[in-house]
Amino acid sequence: MSFCAFEPGYFAGTAPPDPGQLHEVAPGVYWLRMPMPLALDHINLWLLEDGTGWTVVDCGLTTEATRQAWEYLFTSGMKGRPIRRVICTHMHPDHVGLADWLCARWEAPLLMTQGEYLSARLLSAGLPPTDTASMLAHFRAHGADGIHLQELAGRGNFYARMVPSVPLRFQRLMHGQMLHIGGCEWQVIEGGGHSPEHASLWCEAREILIAGDLLLPRISTNVSVFPIEPEADALGRYLRALARFAQLPAAMRVLPSHGLPFTGAHARIRQLRQHHAERLARVLQVCEGQALTAADLVPVLFKRQLDAHQLGFALGEAIAHAHRLWADGALLRSIDAQGIIRFSLAQRTGEPKPDLESLARTAAGL
Ligand SMILES: [Zn+2]
Repeated sequence: MSFCAFEPGYFAGTAPPDPGQLHEVAPGVYWLRMPMPLALDHINLWLLEDGTGWTVVDCGLTTEATRQAWEYLFTSGMKGRPIRRVICTHMHPDHVGLADWLCARWEAPLLMTQGEYLSARLLSAGLPPTDTASMLAHFRAHGADGIHLQELAGRGNFYARMVPSVPLRFQRLMHGQMLHIGGCEWQVIEGGGHSPEHASLWCEAREILIAGDLLLPRISTNVSVFPIEPEADALGRYLRALARFAQLPAAMRVLPSHGLPFTGAHARIRQLRQHHAERLARVLQVCEGQALTAADLVPVLFKRQLDAHQLGFALGEAIAHAHRLWADGALLRSIDAQGIIRFSLAQRTGEPKPDLESLARTAAGL
């Protein structure tokens, strides 16, 4: 399977704004960037002029560095004008981390989809099955061994540390809803797979997509299966989100949460579908004639050394790829007496071997 070449067009330049600085990417639409003490070292946030104030899209991690950058912005680039609304594309800590602080400080409402908001509340409170013990049981069932489980347990409840509180009330965003912000109409486009009900924002008049984490120029969005919905076809949902974006004009400008604002979204979507098709094909190949756990699939999908944080993502991603094929009937899923889940190629005796590459392409929506 050959990869299509993709070179993003960086219409807003290749020099991101420093923390505390604003960079106008379209009239009334500003790009700001917050640091993160992780392998992924930054998040892009967006400020939209909203009458006499601002609407914020995403908030940054709960860290002192992010808080300080906001404090500086309030009086500098934001000219002392108030935040009227806080929109979070989804519930991940880099997006929702400081939402409670921003909402309380500006007496501003939080706008999220219901799935994202309620998930943030569950995770922040560490309620089962979003707690560490449930995650470990989930990974154990998918074949993670002692050392890996120890590493994962060592992380503790990362989410609750990074999102110690979430506003107690919210305004619900729904797919297709129009938000009037600063003289522009922004349409909510919901997409799953990366998180339950991720909201992207589409401005048709300006052909701008605030994509959140669903469409990034360089890295592929993490797609995982979690113990709260252990049989989910998360990759299927993500591919459907990409299909929605593929309906938007090819010339659109994309504002992603990580990396640089870019054009060439349609080519990027094709590349991401091929990326998943190639991984699905590898999973089918190794599951031929043997039953494997998702943990067995991790080294098949990820060649590099993984730390504990990355291992959790990688295991989730391996489950998501296996479940995509399971949902299509290309893989069988079995659970043994010890509760260990394995996947094997669905192949009827006497029938010719299926064309694995075409099965993978179909499963990837190609
Ligand atoms: Zn995310």
